[in-house]
Amino acid sequence: MGAYYDEVEIEDMVWDEEKRVYHYPCPCGDRFEISRKQLANYEDIAACPSCSLVIRVIYDPLDFEDEPDDDEEEEEEETSASDADSEISEEESDADDFHDALDSLTLSDKQPLAVAVEA
Ligand SMILES: [Zn+2]
Repeated sequence: MGAYYDEVEIEDMVWDEEKRVYHYPCPCGDRFEISRKQLANYEDIAACPSCSLVIRVIYDPLDFEDEPDDDEEEEEEETSASDADSEISEEESDADDFHDALDSLTLSDKQPLAVAVEA
């Protein structure tokens, strides 16, 4: 095993949008090919269909892990909204307390002596 014609980085290969394969020119005139699915399956050998040569593709399998099956189950939770609401309600309760203080102050106006003592 391990008799590669060459080792080629994935960046040096060309992506074929129609055939869904990466390819690289083979000295026989054809080209080495490897599909994204092969890459996702940790296969790194691109073979030329016209001759027996193979190349080893240097790549990061993590870049292709998410390729073949459509299992998209990413959920983003919105955490900030409820927190903001609770903060607003707290501010409102503070305002109520302040308003209550004003009310009691107004009530105390009817008792001038008490106000004088408190002041
Ligand atoms: Zn070839």
